[in-house]
Amino acid sequence: MTIQWFPGHMAKAKRELQEKLKLIDVVFELLDARIPMSSRNPMIDEILANKPRIVLLNKADMADEEITKQWISFFAQQQLQALAIDSQAGAGVKQIVVAAKEMLKDKFAKMAAKGIKNPRPLRALIVGIPNVGKSTLINRLAGKHIAKTGDKPGVTKAQQWIKVGKEMELLDTPGILWPKFEDEEVGLKLATTGAIKDTILNLQDVAVYALRFLTQQYPDRLKERYSLHVIPDDIAELFDAIGKRRGCLAGGGTVDYDKVAELVLRDIRTEKLGRLSFEKP
Ligand code: GDP
Repeated sequence: MTIQWFPGHMAKAKRELQEKLKLIDVVFELLDARIPMSSRNPMIDEILANKPRIVLLNKADMADEEITKQWISFFAQQQLQALAIDSQAGAGVKQIVVAAKEMLKDKFAKMAAKGIKNPRPLRALIVGIPNVGKSTLINRLAGKHIAKTGDKPGVTKAQQWIKVGKEMELLDTPGILWPKFEDEEVGLKLATTGAIKDTILNLQDVAVYALRFLTQQYPDRLKERYSLHVIPDDIAELFDAIGKRRGCLAGGGTVDYDKVAELVLRDIRTEKLGRLSFEKP
């Protein structure tokens, strides 16, 4: 999904989210475990104010496990509970309800003390930037494949609740927020991980960024994947070396840099270079 965010869209998204917040007990802030800061909305603290919140580091299956642990500690230092999850396969997803119940136990205990015998299910909302995995998580929590909602122009739909077991209800339309894309590095990280369409940024720019990052942080994986003895300092030479190894050639046997860029980015996104994290706390 590509959304063009303009100031008007941001204001509207913020307003809509604030309306939804009135209905719910807890927010699940969905982030990409590989880039928890770059996949975060820059105004999230202000928008959510004091709403109880659990940070979900999604796509943890693709992130560097050790670094994900560091992120969990980082959020804990900020009094934010974070869980690593894989919405696609379901790993860690059960823990979400457990954590939410625990977080809201005082609120519900007070309701019980007022004589409410059958407490209502706790109500939750998922928020996050496009492509972070909101629909995947909603489907996973719902336990079956529910129809995608929204995207129907002119149809104003009432809010609907999806039952998650007996104890939780989830708003069926997640809160969609914008990333901090005015920061160039944020854009490059979002593009590298596939969160934004390749057409928005120059493919070679993104691959240059990704290859420089890999050279610094994961040199051995880079060497192994592309059978390189040494990683050339010069980025064009690195493109040449990978292109020659992998047959990304144009006419006349010259290396086709666009093909190299595509290959490298596809390899990153399909975990051919293993689990990668592009940000450390
Ligand atoms: P949304 O725009 O936030 O609703 O994002 P989607 O749910 O459409 O997910 C975007 C892409 O990420 C899809 O291709 C999903 O299959 C993929 N995805 C979502 N969650 C995970 C996850 O935990 N692990 C992996 N590997 N892929 C995921």
